[in-house]
Amino acid sequence: MSKVVVFNLPLHGHINPSLAVIKELVVRGEQVIYYTTEQFETKIQATGATIRRYAFNDAPLLALMAQAFQSIPQLLDEVRRELPDYILYNVMCLWGRLIAQILNIRAIALHATYASNEQFQLFSRCTDDFPMLSAQAKSRSAMHDEIQEIFKTYNIRPVDFFNPTSDDIEPLNIVFIPRSFQPQAETFDERFVFVGPSIQPRSESVNFSINQSQQPTLYISLGTIFNEWAEFFQMCFTAFGEKPWRVVMAIGNKVDSRTLGKIPENFIVAPHVPQLTLLQHTTVFLTHGGMNSVMESLYYGVPMIVIPQMPEQKMTAQRVAELNLGLNLEKAEVTASLLESAVTRVMNEPQWREHTRQIQQVLQATVGYQQAADEILRFTELITKETRCNVG
Ligand code: UDP
Repeated sequence: MSKVVVFNLPLHGHINPSLAVIKELVVRGEQVIYYTTEQFETKIQATGATIRRYAFNDAPLLALMAQAFQSIPQLLDEVRRELPDYILYNVMCLWGRLIAQILNIRAIALHATYASNEQFQLFSRCTDDFPMLSAQAKSRSAMHDEIQEIFKTYNIRPVDFFNPTSDDIEPLNIVFIPRSFQPQAETFDERFVFVGPSIQPRSESVNFSINQSQQPTLYISLGTIFNEWAEFFQMCFTAFGEKPWRVVMAIGNKVDSRTLGKIPENFIVAPHVPQLTLLQHTTVFLTHGGMNSVMESLYYGVPMIVIPQMPEQKMTAQRVAELNLGLNLEKAEVTASLLESAVTRVMNEPQWREHTRQIQQVLQATVGYQQAADEILRFTELITKETRCNVG
């Protein structure tokens, strides 16, 4: 049995793919300590991991990351006391990498979305028109300065987190998408293991249940971050209100359903729904194209209509359309009648479901979380052997 400390961002899309892997590691006897915020405690505790708290404010992503650097000295003390055999960190959790480097602990990176190497750099692809990043340019440069300061203070080798060179890449990277979905996949060497979606029932603290229905079910969600688009939710009322379909719409926590007007009778509207359960009853998924949502949809064989809200999702939407898994709509062009005709088309034409089911078979045969746990444990055996040799 080894001891592992896990660092992750306090975001659903980054935590969710780690859950089944952590549970599997616990089942196989690993002692897991997982850093998170109060919001995610219950969900992560259900995996059997021990929780340690981060003191994060409810800040946007980059401000939140800049803030995390301030907690490095405290985290260093805590991790030093724990003496873990290895660290698992979400690749966007830069402090996970820094702590591992400073304390000279071996580390494994987890990738909730596309992986980057010298040839394909997700961050550069996305910064061009990434509203969130440019709006937060200040936190970005503050973060950059703080990282440089940390390299100096702790006398560690500088790493380019965003545009990694080959030397900046961890010896093991677990990527929660299938290799067939990764752009320029052929340029990723054996340090990257594409395990596909890591899915097991999740413990969600929401009060929501859904039954079998004779009617087709349309599920609509813009995910948990880029979901402040009240006009879109209203367009959905107009487009699908009179249809013989059951419509479930998860609107997130930025838009108040009471401000949307009359909710049509065939709609169920909620801030957050248990998506994995719901997808098992869904005919078509109208999604923003977050990587987890797309992978989960494929895992349950549900064709999609993707309306991307930011550049990474644009890439994903194009990929979905290229692979005939659904349609890709431009946010700026969306109208109620476009939504209606797109959903009707995907409901009625069998090809979308057929292509989706083909991928579903591959994904369900892989069992991503088990493969991830196999790779992680193989890696830790190597570390143990190395340590024994060094001591010997
Ligand atoms: N999710 C959920 N219920 C909701 C909305 C989202 O369970 O009402 C989950 C969804 O299953 C996925 C994650 O939250 O695992 C969202 O991640 P994704 O990468 O799709 O998008 P993001 O929210 O990060 O933009």
